[in-house]
Amino acid sequence: MRVLITGAAGFLGSHLTDRFIAEGYEVVGLDNFITGHPDNVAHLAGNRKFSLIQHDVSTFTYAPGKFDGVLHFASLASPVDYLNYPIKTLKVGAMGTFNTLGIAKANKARFFLASTSEVYGDPSVHPQVESYWGNVNPIGPRSCYDESKRFAEAATMAYHREHQLDTRIVRIFNTYGPRMQPHDGRVVTNFIVQALTGEPITLYGDGTQTRSFCYVDDEIDGIFRLFTMGDSQPTNIGNPNEFTMRQLADLVIELTGSNSPIVTRPLPSDDPKQRQPDITKARTQLGWEPKISLRDGLARTIEYFRPLIGSPRMKSRAQRVVG
Ligand code: NAD
Ligand code: UDP
Repeated sequence: MRVLITGAAGFLGSHLTDRFIAEGYEVVGLDNFITGHPDNVAHLAGNRKFSLIQHDVSTFTYAPGKFDGVLHFASLASPVDYLNYPIKTLKVGAMGTFNTLGIAKANKARFFLASTSEVYGDPSVHPQVESYWGNVNPIGPRSCYDESKRFAEAATMAYHREHQLDTRIVRIFNTYGPRMQPHDGRVVTNFIVQALTGEPITLYGDGTQTRSFCYVDDEIDGIFRLFTMGDSQPTNIGNPNEFTMRQLADLVIELTGSNSPIVTRPLPSDDPKQRQPDITKARTQLGWEPKISLRDGLARTIEYFRPLIGSPRMKSRAQRVVG
């Protein structure tokens, strides 16, 4: 069995690559390193079951050989990244999705889309169940991401209906763990890096907004089960334990033993006030539920970041390769 994974040098893509290889698959990774880093898959160098192609999937894409699965994980994914590159974000969700759907169709392969809880926007239904259509501002600063993923879901369903393509859609809720980019601007990385360097912890708004954080090992297990056992309708994969951002800041300070003060900053516009997955579908259809608590997952993530402080991986965004 052979799969193509776009975004394979990213946080989730690299863990997913490890899982597929561990399950006996051959993996061809495709990434332009705009936010990902080859270091994330450096441990696979020399592994005959893995190859990595540097390529922008929003442009014409050809991947040699036969594939049984195509998993489209490439995207700008953190609010800081997609606010910096709104057009690339829209393109990878639109053209990138069409290009990868085309590869799946040509190979009669299973197509798997990495979608997001952001399709629910600032939700008025809580917790978010898959049947909820969402509350997204189509012209706000986050719309480049939210609408690119909503479009990608629509394109996936169109290929499923018109070409009977075998498809899966996962709606991923906030996931964290080793191999996140230290400067991706997401809350977990910001708080951990700030705590470890003694910088102030930047709490946006009053810190009462909530998120439900899933440790990467749990998330990847849910994604792999969905790939092998799921159906074509969207499936939430995330941890339903919900925390305020102030609770998260307090926990990171406690686990790092940091003296960093908490400072408040303005709440970004359209920042969702609450987010919690309803995982009834994943529980019943996939027999999946997350096992790792936020406390344990954060402790593991802190131990990943601690030795990176002061290392070249902490280099600034401007020094990254941009495709
Ligand atoms: P990431 O930034 O670490 O990984 C994304 C990867 O895609 C990077 O390696 C990047 O270089 C690559 N990429 C971006 N545009 C590309 C292009 N045009 N061509 C080729 N490669 C390109 O982010 P992540 O957290 O690992 O996210 C992976 C996927 O999961 C994304 O589709 C994201 O939207 C989705 N997702 C993630 C989360 C989360 O909490 N981590 C939540 C919801 C959805
Ligand atoms: N946030 C924060 N401080 C930071 C970064 C983010 O308080 O330094 C908040 C942000 O306003 C949001 C939550 O943390 O309410 C999650 O933000 P993130 O960027 O991780 O992802 P989102 O879930 O908003 O896509």
